[in-house]
Amino acid sequence: MSGNPDRLKRDLRLRAEQIIQSQADDSSSLSTNDVYTLVHDLNVHQIELELQNEELKQAHNELQESQNRFYQLFELAPVGYLCLDQNGLILQSNKTIQQLLGYTTPEINGKYFVNFVYPDDLSIYSARFKAFFSHPENKTLELRLTIKANECIVVEFKARLVDSKLFKFSATEAQNSNNRLLVNVVDVSQRYRAEQELQLAAKVFETSEEGILIVDAFSKILKVNASFTAIAGYQAQDVIGKTPAILKSGRHDEHYFQSMWSRIHRHGSWQGEIWNKRKNGDLYVEWLSITSIKDRYGRISHYIGIFTDITVRKKNEEQIEKLAHYDPLTDLPNRILLNDRLKQAIIQTNRHHRYLTVMFLDMDRFKLINDTMGHFVGDLLLQEVAKRLLSCGRESDTVARFGGDEFIIVLIDFDDESLALTHSKEIASKILKAFSTPFELDEGSFSSSTSIGIAVFPKHGQTVTELVKNADTAMYHAKSSGRNNYQMYTDTMHDENFKRSQMIHDIQLAAHLQQFTVFYQPKINLITNEITGLEALVRWKHPQYGLVLPDEFISSAEESKAILELGAYILKTACQQLKHWHQQGHHSLTISVNLSTRQLLQNNLTDIISNILSNTGLDPKFLELEITESVMMENITDAIGILKSLISMGCTITLDDFGTGYASLTYLKRLPVHCLKIDRSFIYDLTTEPDDNIIVDSILSIANHMQLKVIAEGVETEQQVNYLKNKGCYIGQGHYFSPPLPARQIVIPARDQEVTSLKPA
Ligand code: C2E
Ligand code: CA
Ligand code: CA
Repeated sequence: MSGNPDRLKRDLRLRAEQIIQSQADDSSSLSTNDVYTLVHDLNVHQIELELQNEELKQAHNELQESQNRFYQLFELAPVGYLCLDQNGLILQSNKTIQQLLGYTTPEINGKYFVNFVYPDDLSIYSARFKAFFSHPENKTLELRLTIKANECIVVEFKARLVDSKLFKFSATEAQNSNNRLLVNVVDVSQRYRAEQELQLAAKVFETSEEGILIVDAFSKILKVNASFTAIAGYQAQDVIGKTPAILKSGRHDEHYFQSMWSRIHRHGSWQGEIWNKRKNGDLYVEWLSITSIKDRYGRISHYIGIFTDITVRKKNEEQIEKLAHYDPLTDLPNRILLNDRLKQAIIQTNRHHRYLTVMFLDMDRFKLINDTMGHFVGDLLLQEVAKRLLSCGRESDTVARFGGDEFIIVLIDFDDESLALTHSKEIASKILKAFSTPFELDEGSFSSSTSIGIAVFPKHGQTVTELVKNADTAMYHAKSSGRNNYQMYTDTMHDENFKRSQMIHDIQLAAHLQQFTVFYQPKINLITNEITGLEALVRWKHPQYGLVLPDEFISSAEESKAILELGAYILKTACQQLKHWHQQGHHSLTISVNLSTRQLLQNNLTDIISNILSNTGLDPKFLELEITESVMMENITDAIGILKSLISMGCTITLDDFGTGYASLTYLKRLPVHCLKIDRSFIYDLTTEPDDNIIVDSILSIANHMQLKVIAEGVETEQQVNYLKNKGCYIGQGHYFSPPLPARQIVIPARDQEVTSLKPA
C-alpha cells in the first residue's frame, strides 16, 4: 500500500463507518466473519501505517540530509553568499564570506553591508544598491571592501532578487515580506590587479614621453606609442608591419648596426645615441635603448626600443662645449682648448721626433684704444685682428685667443729646428706686415701693432706651461725693444726672468729689513731761487751693493704687490718729513711723491693717503702726487676717476715725464691735473738740440693755454735755467740745484735767503 496518508485515513474511516452502519441495519451482532475481516483489515492497516511511518521517517531523513548538504553547499560554496534586506542589512552570510572578510558570523549578520564597503566606493555602492531593486537586470558590481586585516580586496558583487518567503528567518520578518537580495561575492582582487597592471602598462605606453616601438622577432614593427609619432612624425599605421629601417638617417654605417645587434644578442640590451630621420626628412638624434624580450622557451619574441629625442640637448651641449672651448668674440679657440691642443701637439711632435713653435702675441697699446674709444670698438678691433692672424698661417696652425689682447699661435710639424725657426720668423714678419695696414672699422680707421715672442719645442720648453711662459718672456722682450717686432726666446731671457723673480723676493725681504730710505730733491723757483717743495725719491740701502737707485728695482716691485707696501712706506715717510720741515718754520713747502701704476689703481688708495695725512696732521694741499703720462694714458678711464677723488681730498696732481707719453691735447683736456713736469730728456739737450727746443716750447705753450703749472726736471746747467726762465717756465729741479739727498742733508734757507747753499760749487 502506498499513497497519501490523509486519503488512507479517509478510506479507513469510510470503511469502518460502513461496517458499523450495516450492523445497525441487520439488527444482528457482527458475524465472526465480519470481525475477522475487520481485525484483518485493522492489522493490515496497522502494518501499513507502520510501513508508512518508516517511509516517512526515511523521507524525513533524506530531507534532513539534503538540507544538510544544501547547508554545507551554502556554507562552504567557493562563492560568498549574503542575504540582504532592502536596507542592506545582512540577514544571512555563509562561511566563505566570513573567511573573505575575516569576521565571524555574529560580526557580520545583523550589520549593514555598507560597513564593509571601501570608503571611496560608497557612492557607487549606494547608487547601485537601490538599482538592484528597481532594475534587477543590472546585477553585477565590482566593489572594493575593507576586510578585518585593514586591507582592501576587490570583489564581484552579484545580486539576485529573491522572494522573501524563501528566506524566512523569524515570524516578524515573514510578515515584512519584502524582497530580499541574494548576493554572491567573489574575490576578484587578483584579476583586478592584473587588469590594473595591464591598464597601467597601456597607459604608460601611451603617455610615456619616451618614444616606444615594439618589434617582433622578424623585425616587423608591431606597436608604437604617441611619443613615437610625435618624435618620428610617423603615425602608427605608417610603420606597423614595416621594419625600423624606415627610420634610418644614413649617418651610421653597417658596422655601427652590426655591433649594436651583436651586443643585443650577447647581453640582451643596447643603449646609445643614434641619428634617425623623421617623416619630413629632418635628421634627429635620439638616445635609444633596445631590450630583447624572450618567450617561455627562451626564444626572442620581441624587441622593445625606447628613445628620447636629444637633438636639442645635444645642440645645447655643443653650444656649451663651444662656449667652454671657444672665445665667443673672435670664435678662436680659447685658453682651455689651446692648452689641450698644444698638449696633444707636444705628444705627437715628441713621438715623431718633430718640432713645433709657440708664438705669443700681445697687441701694442690696445688698452689705449679700448679705454679711449670704448669696449665696443676694442671688441671690433679684436675680431679684425683675429681674422688677420688666421689669414697669416696654415690650416694646421692653431690660432687661439689667450686672453684680453693676447693671442697664441701654434705652428706644428717641422722637420728640424732651423726650419721651425725660419718658418716662424716668416709668419711673424707676415703678421707684423698685416698689422701695418690700419684696421678699417665703421667707427674709423685704427692703427695697431703687435709684439711677438717665439719659443720652439723641444729646445725652449717641454711642456705647455714652459713653452707659453718662454714665448711670453720673448714677447716681453719684443715690447721692451720698442714694440712692433718679434723676438726668439733665448736662455739669457730666462736668466733675466730668474733675476726678476729673485729681485721681487729681495725687495720683499728688504722692505721687511727696512733697507729702503727716502731721499729728497728740492724744486726751485727759478726767479727767486727759493725752494718751493721737494720730491721724495726712494733709495735701497743694499748691504752688498750699497745705494741702489729706483730704476734698478721699481719695475720689479711693480710686478708684485711689493710696490704697494713700499709705496705706502714712502708716502708716510715723506709726509712725516714734510711735517717736520713745516714745524721747523718752512710752512709753504710742498712734497711730491711718485705713484706707480699699481699703486694708482689699487682699490683703497684714497683711504691710505687720507689715513697718512690725518696721522701726520698734514694739510692735503701740501701733497703733490706725480703720475707718469704713459700710466695715465694706458688707464685713462680708471685714472680719471681716481685723480678726481684724490683732488677732491685736496691733493694736487702732476703729470710726470711729460712729453714722452701719448697724451694728445684732446685727452689732456679731460685729465684733472694741476701741473706738467717736462721730462728730463728734453731738458738735457735743450740748448744744443733744436728739436727739443720745439718740444719744450710747445709743452710750455700747451701748459699756458690750459692754465697748468709747469716744472722742468733734470736741470743741470745755467743755460738751461736761463732758457726756461725766458720761455716762462719758473720752476726747476735738477743737479744744478741739488741731487736727491737724505733729509738731514737738505738745507732749507730761511724764506728771504737765497738758496746759494744749494748751488753746486
Ligand atoms: P722721476 O720721477 O722722473 O724722478 C726724477 C729722476 O731724475 C730721479 O732719479 C732723479 O735722481 C733724477 N734726476 C734729478 N735731477 C737730475 C739731473 O739734473 N740730471 C739727471 N740726469 N737726473 C736727475 P731716480 O731717483 O733714480 O728715480 C728714477 C725714477 O724712479 C723716478 O723718475 C721715478 O719714476 C722712480 N721713482 C723714484 N722714487 C720713487 C718712488 O718713491 N716711488 C715710485 N713709484 N717711483 C719712484
Ligand atoms: Ca717724479
Ligand atoms: Ca720725471
